[in-house]
Amino acid sequence: MKKIAVVTGATRGIGLAISQKLSQDGFFIVGISRADNQEANDSWVNSLSNDCRLFKCDVTSLLAVEEVIAKISELEGSVHLLVNNAGITSDSFFHKMSLESWKSVIDTNLNSLFYITQPIYKIMKENGGGKIINISSVNGQKGQAGQVNYSSSKAGVHGFTMALAQEGARSNILVNTISPGYTNTEMMKNIRVDILQGIKDNIPLGRLAEPKEIANVASFLASDCCSYITGANIPVNGGLFIG
Ligand code: NDP
Repeated sequence: MKKIAVVTGATRGIGLAISQKLSQDGFFIVGISRADNQEANDSWVNSLSNDCRLFKCDVTSLLAVEEVIAKISELEGSVHLLVNNAGITSDSFFHKMSLESWKSVIDTNLNSLFYITQPIYKIMKENGGGKIINISSVNGQKGQAGQVNYSSSKAGVHGFTMALAQEGARSNILVNTISPGYTNTEMMKNIRVDILQGIKDNIPLGRLAEPKEIANVASFLASDCCSYITGANIPVNGGLFIG
């Protein structure tokens, strides 16, 4: 029986690294990607070690998510794992932040968790268990100027994790958060060089994380070795909280 892992935001950055690592671990990856970029999609499929499927879906659209869930339900195998990874930033100081910027970040980073997780959680309950990994952020843990929208959404992600972990425990559904620190992906490419240097100077390990360093933690949480951790928020941030 195929062990299906659903990964949102699968074709780039941290989602790509998680897809590749979980595929190496033996999962059948169902990737969810918003972009209709055939080249990127083909390269995603070719970079995985196992069978996989990629579905186009905007996670902010309940209708689009329902359509994808119907397609996942038709696949052979059972859904063991969901990784809620898709996310965006839309930074500005709060006094200048538009309602659109606030809503788009909350829709993508938080409301999408409701749309996708609820049907998959029901499937996991019927199957007798499963695992859910939510990707939050260091800035959801400590807040970040210029990111009131993002920090709110990412703090909400861990609230979601803690509450659902309590509900899911009796059904053998383990729910955890990973909170990456600053990670070397396209999300960081918009940051000014001098600000980026300041960020690195503040990280005890002196560098950004590589996406595969986040994926390795997801791999552990997804594995059979991890059977007694639920409701946790695992920081992978190069030591940002030391001292
Ligand atoms: P990227 O910008 O590299 O990738 C974001 C991914 O999310 C893309 O695959 C994108 O899809 C997908 N996505 C965005 N909006 C939607 C949507 N509406 N529907 C479907 N997919 C969508 O970001 P990262 O890899 O850096 O980030 C991954 C996660 O990690 C995010 O949740 C982010 O907040 C979090 N994170 C990142 C950090 C960093 O420093 N990079 C630090 C802490 C947390 P598409 O390619 O189709 O646009």
